[in-house]
Amino acid sequence: MRFIDEVTIDVRGGKGGDGSRAMRREKFVPLGGPAGGNGGEGGDVVLVADPQLRTLLDLHYRRSLQAESGEHGRGKDQHGKGGRDLDVRVPLGTQIFEATDGVLLADLDIEGARFIAAHGGKGGYGNKHFVTPYDRAPLTAEKGHPGETRTLRLELKLLADVGLVGFPNVGKSTLIAAVSQARPKIAEYPFTTLVPQLGVVSLGVDRSFVVADIPGIIEGAAQGAGLGLRFLKHIERTQVLVHVLAVDPDEGREPVRDFDLLMRELRAFDAALASRPMLIALNKTDLPETEQSLAHIVKQMEARGHSVFAVSAVSRQGLEPLMLALETLLKSAATDEKATQHRS
Ligand code: GDP
Ligand code: MG
Repeated sequence: MRFIDEVTIDVRGGKGGDGSRAMRREKFVPLGGPAGGNGGEGGDVVLVADPQLRTLLDLHYRRSLQAESGEHGRGKDQHGKGGRDLDVRVPLGTQIFEATDGVLLADLDIEGARFIAAHGGKGGYGNKHFVTPYDRAPLTAEKGHPGETRTLRLELKLLADVGLVGFPNVGKSTLIAAVSQARPKIAEYPFTTLVPQLGVVSLGVDRSFVVADIPGIIEGAAQGAGLGLRFLKHIERTQVLVHVLAVDPDEGREPVRDFDLLMRELRAFDAALASRPMLIALNKTDLPETEQSLAHIVKQMEARGHSVFAVSAVSRQGLEPLMLALETLLKSAATDEKATQHRS
């Protein structure tokens, strides 16, 4: 399933250092002449494509980027040092647009590709620079030039790594909202009535994955199998599934029966999908008097060979172990994929 992760950032190159207006002051040299050095150039803001990153999440928290200023020039003909460039890593595949008119500026689709997002300002000339035969002791020095400023929109097409499946009302939406901070825009989704939700789960720097709610399996089946089928086509590339059950479901529902029903639907649509690595999130465990039901469900699921994570999306209990287990599963899925590619 492809989604769009999007962020708008302000970038500003470092300011150029001011030129110096200095005169040489030496013993026994009454008029030493001008000696003001030039200011250093400001640093650039550079976006660098990094395959280790999966999302634009870091930039969601840091939307304003400014490179270092150049140092001012000094007396004794000393030029100011240039400001350091600010290298900002973005995921491979990030597209960069001018925010105002939407013009595509760069497509960072090669590892290590660099895009200068904002140039640093030039340093100002010191008075030494302005010496002419007619003016041997100019007092003019130039101010440093401001860095370039721009507003850019970054866009990354993402693939969902984890698909959430489950009956309506088991808490899929609540779960996604509880574990993720960023909710990327859903890309032109062909369905109007059922919209997948997704979130970017971040477990630390460079440790993030995308979770998507997959509606339509049960809802779609009710509206005609075609809809469900088309949804499933979009989740072919999720690596891992989480099957969400509610320990205290809606009136008339029974979690274990629902589980079997949904798995049957999944298998009917796509056998490969049904055999994808899967964890069970048993939700709503905050509700009172659910111990018996919980024990029963855990036993039934384990009999089917599945690990159960008891969670509460509302009170955020048990979510971390589930996310860590997903991260581990995703890592091993990626390793398996590599091994398969190697063999073929
Ligand atoms: P979805 O249809 O699977 O996306 O389910 P929702 O996330 O919309 O949740 C359905 C209902 O269950 C909402 O009223 C939620 O507030 C409630 N709910 C979700 N998670 C929990 C939970 O952990 N505990 C309790 N008590 N209620 C929950
Ligand atoms: Mg929902």
